[in-house]
Amino acid sequence: MKKDISLSDLISKSNIEHDYDPNAMSVEKARTWITNFLSPLEQEETIHIKDALHRILSKSVKANINVPNYDNSAMDGYAINIDSLKGEGPFSLQITGKVFAGNQLEGNANEAVRIMTGASIPAGLNAVIPQEHTETHQDIIAFKTKPFFNQNIRRLGEDIKSGQIVFQSGRRIESCDLGLLASLGIDSIKVFRKIRVAFFSTGDEIISLGNPLSPGQVYDSNRYSLIGLLKCLDVEAIDLGVVPDDKNIIEDTLKKASNMADVIITTGGVSVGEADYMKEILKKIGEILFWKISMKPGRPLAYGKIGHCHYFGLPGNPVSTMVTFYQFVREAILTLAGQTPIPKVPLIKAKLLMSIKKIPGRTEFQRGIYEQDDDGIFNVTPLKDQGSGILRSMSEANCFIVLHEDMAHLEKDTWVDIQLFTSLF
Ligand code: AMP
Ligand code: MG
Repeated sequence: MKKDISLSDLISKSNIEHDYDPNAMSVEKARTWITNFLSPLEQEETIHIKDALHRILSKSVKANINVPNYDNSAMDGYAINIDSLKGEGPFSLQITGKVFAGNQLEGNANEAVRIMTGASIPAGLNAVIPQEHTETHQDIIAFKTKPFFNQNIRRLGEDIKSGQIVFQSGRRIESCDLGLLASLGIDSIKVFRKIRVAFFSTGDEIISLGNPLSPGQVYDSNRYSLIGLLKCLDVEAIDLGVVPDDKNIIEDTLKKASNMADVIITTGGVSVGEADYMKEILKKIGEILFWKISMKPGRPLAYGKIGHCHYFGLPGNPVSTMVTFYQFVREAILTLAGQTPIPKVPLIKAKLLMSIKKIPGRTEFQRGIYEQDDDGIFNVTPLKDQGSGILRSMSEANCFIVLHEDMAHLEKDTWVDIQLFTSLF
């Protein structure tokens, strides 16, 4: 695949590559093409670390101090100098002072110094004997074995050294990172601004919550699935509601969205019945590709640009919306948000507990329920109802069973790949 092919080239010259067929795109190929047209937004802002969970670093972070920044005790016990111990044990030493966390030893460190966890190791001492390994008689401690050099001592810089790069640009900040940044005395960081994603549902039959349903109408579920999916990606979500199948209103809403957002997602109206209609508007105001993906569910997909905005037209069937979001939009949003590397959703091997009918030539994402048995083996059962309109199957399932393009009918006990919902949501 050529990297330098522009979106308009791909739209205008459909024979641009010998294996480019908009009516039979593999999932992998579609994803690669889309990735070709994406680059991170790269606008940054400075935020306090308490607001930084799940934000993406736009500058790498360097340590300006050592952690810990002094040698300190890992135990409550006695600091000693092992070089002063002669011969084999048992040994006895006099307690000549004590030091608590936050204080320095006053006077000289000789023989043994009572020390608490986190307290500074007195100069000249090089091991700490935990108090439970000692016996004390007045100001004498006795212990049996000679500790090794640095035993129970946390050395200066052993966690992080001053000058070290702790996080590279592109990292998504996790809870543990917040603590680590604080341990370095860093209170603010530079991050990419959040991606703005505008979305709306299309369809004359789609009704917003709060209104009664008449025959032939359905409640808008896609917008709510999207709200959840987008929340997991930590974007700024702009909900533009439900738009009827009306040329002018759709065009106006798309234009409005392209002025507010970095990404537009619509659901519905890209399948065969309505494609020409949506196509006409999108062709007029943007550069859009219409693909038939060799996948189930989620065959029709539109991708392109309206102004500077990336556009994703997802199929309207509720399960198709979710599956195409996972397969195409999720990775695109993470790329635009500046995250590097983008974590691949892990594929886990699981044993099929029921046979599955399949024809080769398309990738299927079946909803399944997995369980890990006592030997650690993943077993998976496909759900009975796999229709692309049956959203219940998404809620009942806990994984996708990924049936690759070349696979045919699968017998019980075949090993298949599954994607855990916990790694996707
Ligand atoms: P479409 O992609 O517009 O042809 O829609 C395919 C199917 O999905 C139709 O049965 C629609 O009624 C249904 N559908 C489309 N959008 C939504 C939505 N936002 N919520 C629930 N169902 C939808
Ligand atoms: Mg429709």
